[in-house]
Amino acid sequence: SKFVYAFEEGSQNMKDLLGGKGANLSEMMRLGLPVPNGFTITTEACIEYLDRGEQLSDEVLTQLDEKLKELEDKTNKAFSSDENLLLVSVRSGAKISMPGMMDTILNLGLNDENVEKLAAKTEDARFAYDCYRRLLQMFGSVVYNIPMPAFEEYFEAFKKEKGHVTDADVPAEDLKEIVEQYKEIYIEEAHKPFPQDPKKQLTEAIEAVFKSWNNDRARIYRDLNEIPHDIGTAVNVQEMVFGNSGDRSGTGVAFTRNPATGEHKLYGEYLLNAQGEDVVAGIRTPKAIETLNEQMPHAYEEFVNVTKKLESHYKDMQDIEFTIENEKLFILQTRNGKRTAKAAINIAVDMVREGVISKEDAVAMVDVKSIDQLLHPNFNEEALKSAELVSDKGLPASPGAATGVVVFSALDAKAKAEAGEKVILVRPETSPEDIEGMIAAEAIVTTHGGMTSHAAVVARGMGKCCVTGCSDLEINTKEKYVKYAGKTLSEGDIISVNGSTGAVYIGEIETTKAEASDVFEEFMGWAEEIARLSVRMNAETEGDIKAGYSFNAKGIGLVRTEHMFFGEERLIEMRRFILASTYEERVEALNKIKVYQTEDFEGIFNLSQDRPSIVRLLDPPLHEFLPKGGEEVKAVADQLGVTTDFLEKRISELHEFNPMLGHRGCRLAITYPELYEMQTEAIITAVLNLKEKGIETKPEIMIPLVSTTQEFVILKDVVKKKAQEIMDAKGVQVDYLIGTMIETPRACLVAGELAQHSEFFSFGTNDLAQLTYGFSRDDAGKFINEYINREILNIDPFQTLDVEGMGQLIKIAVESAKSANPAIKIGVCGELGGDPKSIHFFNDLTIDYVSCSPFRVPGAILATAQSQV
Ligand code: ADP
Ligand code: MG
Ligand code: MG
Repeated sequence: SKFVYAFEEGSQNMKDLLGGKGANLSEMMRLGLPVPNGFTITTEACIEYLDRGEQLSDEVLTQLDEKLKELEDKTNKAFSSDENLLLVSVRSGAKISMPGMMDTILNLGLNDENVEKLAAKTEDARFAYDCYRRLLQMFGSVVYNIPMPAFEEYFEAFKKEKGHVTDADVPAEDLKEIVEQYKEIYIEEAHKPFPQDPKKQLTEAIEAVFKSWNNDRARIYRDLNEIPHDIGTAVNVQEMVFGNSGDRSGTGVAFTRNPATGEHKLYGEYLLNAQGEDVVAGIRTPKAIETLNEQMPHAYEEFVNVTKKLESHYKDMQDIEFTIENEKLFILQTRNGKRTAKAAINIAVDMVREGVISKEDAVAMVDVKSIDQLLHPNFNEEALKSAELVSDKGLPASPGAATGVVVFSALDAKAKAEAGEKVILVRPETSPEDIEGMIAAEAIVTTHGGMTSHAAVVARGMGKCCVTGCSDLEINTKEKYVKYAGKTLSEGDIISVNGSTGAVYIGEIETTKAEASDVFEEFMGWAEEIARLSVRMNAETEGDIKAGYSFNAKGIGLVRTEHMFFGEERLIEMRRFILASTYEERVEALNKIKVYQTEDFEGIFNLSQDRPSIVRLLDPPLHEFLPKGGEEVKAVADQLGVTTDFLEKRISELHEFNPMLGHRGCRLAITYPELYEMQTEAIITAVLNLKEKGIETKPEIMIPLVSTTQEFVILKDVVKKKAQEIMDAKGVQVDYLIGTMIETPRACLVAGELAQHSEFFSFGTNDLAQLTYGFSRDDAGKFINEYINREILNIDPFQTLDVEGMGQLIKIAVESAKSANPAIKIGVCGELGGDPKSIHFFNDLTIDYVSCSPFRVPGAILATAQSQV
């Protein structure tokens, strides 16, 4: 097969084979841009090399010779020529740009002999020795693994001794001396000399690039970014052009638009008499690109034209590397430029307005993650650099940036917040009892727990900054302190929490505020036009619901009624209900809760107006509402007027070995139908109350955790009877839907039958994942990372849909439900409803909507649109 391609033979579509850099060099050559000649050794050659135990095959070596000969002919230069010496760069370039891979080697081909000839040919011998010094340094570090500081420290000390300020000040004579010393360093560090034969230099350099594919840095980077390990890298060999050949030469980089703001203006920097990465290395201060217009107007004009041509060709903002040799411009690289979230939106919208791209292109171009970034405040980048870390071991559970004083309990959080302080709640982990403290806090930090722990899920739901699993912190909630890195943080100390990175810092750090703009609105409008699925929110508090609707959610996909039982007074009544021994006592307690529930539902439906709201009837096991033990049991017993013994007995009766598989969801209501009757009464009363005020609403009543049709049929009957009774008493009829949550594998398998009785389905992906794998969601943290590291799993099924397993269950359920009841409305709620990859899968099914936390709504809208393009 063909392993080596001249730039003329490739194109932009050959990234798999030629890597990103090589494919774009080829493309630029095809566009007629001034690109130095060269060729690319393919990613297949890399894979072959690694498979053969790090050996270049004869086939590759032969093709390499041929292409080198062609290059020599084309350039009229040669490795062995005294008159026209060929020097090349060796540049790695995988399909996906990958920092952590091998660096570039420049000026390859120089040796002791030809450097002198080159020096004699040029006006200033300095140029030749500068090139040689650079080659020795780059080749040594990259190919022979000599630590770069070995060269740099010597060079710095030398400059200091001679009184040279910058590299460019070092004269030829001194460079000669440096080169000699560098060769000594080879012997000391690598125990072998610098290879004098250019061909040997070239093959060794190519092999080093191929080997670097498997170095630790590269592997870690690929793991982090989900890049496959078996695609290999290409190598580009390119004729050198010299930005360091005097003051009519230089090198630089430019973006076709401002990568921080998106402003449509060339943005870049350059240095005269410089080579390679001098511009980014910060040795000399580069000049702004506009200045080039004064220094070399022709080259500048040509460059501006090239940047325009490249941007309109690639239809995206470009990041371009160039070099000027004696006023002649060369383009060395182009790629789609990295940009901030703000710039991403501005650029996409501008390019549509300019007629360069379509709305579909614009929507496809913006990363869903940048939407999240835009909606949360961020820490000032500069300020972060000098901040002192408390922990960087935590997980970025919910994005945002927050500062406040440390508190160790929900009670303290509430009290201090009420007194006007900003607080950060620091806990080993959180539980439903901490809700009020979490609401009061600016951010939540836990020392245990993962991305799907209680703290993480609730915080994301609230759009609140949260870092979980800071395993290096030692927390003592009794004595109220945290130990970190040998130091102690006490209650009242100020910390800052970065929910986007998982880091926690000492003290206050300046933030930059999130801002919704007209441009953002316009962009999101296009996404909605394009999308097929609609997006609802999972929410029950006023703040969350308002936030979700401000982001254009199309309704509420999940009201978790248990969240409404945790207010102080409600909890008392709920506990009375649980402790009651007769039906009458239970109903009495429920009647009190009903008053609160009715009010809450009225508030929720009023915010939704004519948009649908799914209310899930009570789901968790009852013991979640009881105190955990110790002091609290006594306090609660006193409060309820029962003995501690009695309360303890009841708690132990309610104890379950597997609470998530226990007496919960619809099973509770099979035993205590009065619970769902109370909730139905509250819902229907709320709707009737609103109707009286002229507000029509659309409640959808959902029964959780169904696994048999009988369960649903019985409870549907309970709900319908109660609803009818309430409506008849008022003499007013209202519409509502009744449906079920699909969250057990059995429900998926009997979905056709369930659908005959159900007006809607909503897939509860958290429980469904838990039951599909048999992984307890609260314990999976103990092994899931190891599973992912050892490639037993390639995703965390609680965060991204497992297409092959759980996806198939969902698919079976959707298809059989639709054929049994074509009118059925189907949605998805739970964590996966906001995950872009999962959304792509749901989009391919004939479902109607996804539902997620309010702050994930905009990202989900964008993901639903991207699924369609
Ligand atoms: P990276 O992938 O790190 O960007 P590159 O392969 O683009 O590495 O090389 C880094 C720099 O080296 C380029 O920006 C350019 O300045 C310089 N360079 C690479 N090839 C050549 C060449 N043929 N002539 C002159 N300079 C080159
Ligand atoms: Mg680099
Ligand atoms: Mg580059």
